[in-house]
Amino acid sequence: MFFIGCHLSSSKGFEAMGKTALEINANTFQFFTRNPRGSQAKDINLQDAQALQLLLKTHHFGPIIAHAPYTLNPASADAKTRSFALQTMADDLARMEYLPGNLYNFHPGSHVGQGAPEGLRLIIEALNEILTPEQHTTVLLETMAGKGTEIGRSFDELKQILDGVKLNGKMGVCLDTCHVHDAGYSLAVLDGLLEEFDKQIGLKNLKAIHLNDSLNPRGARKDRHAAIGQGEIGTDTLSRVINHPALQNIPFCLETPNDLAGYAREIALLRSLHRQ
Ligand code: FE
Ligand code: FE
Ligand code: ZN
Repeated sequence: MFFIGCHLSSSKGFEAMGKTALEINANTFQFFTRNPRGSQAKDINLQDAQALQLLLKTHHFGPIIAHAPYTLNPASADAKTRSFALQTMADDLARMEYLPGNLYNFHPGSHVGQGAPEGLRLIIEALNEILTPEQHTTVLLETMAGKGTEIGRSFDELKQILDGVKLNGKMGVCLDTCHVHDAGYSLAVLDGLLEEFDKQIGLKNLKAIHLNDSLNPRGARKDRHAAIGQGEIGTDTLSRVINHPALQNIPFCLETPNDLAGYAREIALLRSLHRQ
């Protein structure tokens, strides 16, 4: 199956996102669990969650992706900032139990000058606090561009996190094409990149792809997304990504600068480029 979708606003609730996805011919989507500042999330509406689940099943959607607020930093030097990240993520995961079997993606964090080893240690510590054997959600580490002191710009760092987490069977990785390009990996040499991923992390742990072009040259460590074909990666390379045999049946999610009509056009384009 080819699962393609985009980031959607969650302001009108769960089922509304499913209906919007259907309108633009998507069969997966991503949403923020709460506003990016990480403030209080709205109470879960059980009926709304069940309505979405029914819609996803009826229309054969792939897994959907909840995205943690990107301002959280479980690797912060400040204990309060860390505990806020922890509490927010634990609360998000409790809510995700209303939509079992899906994905929860987060940015591993920034070490803010403490050094990568300490940042990695804090992220592992946080995950060992949050994950439970009972949860029905897979928690994804997103590959990062490496701006500032971001952790997760190399497959090696992500591997170190997964190795340190006790319940790492509940975890996986979301590969963001803009981020890996900005971090220095070459998507043009896709087999090499995936071989490296497989060696370090294992391809079976690749659970989702953020499909974005990048405004900046490879290795720029910037993280500025571009629309498909409007950046330095290009349509041909992104087409090879969606068609790669090792990347079938995992959700591809656009996070390109677009309104809904723009997303609909990109989804149509990518469907036309996908060769089954
Ligand atoms: Fe992200
Ligand atoms: Fe992303
Ligand atoms: Zn990004």
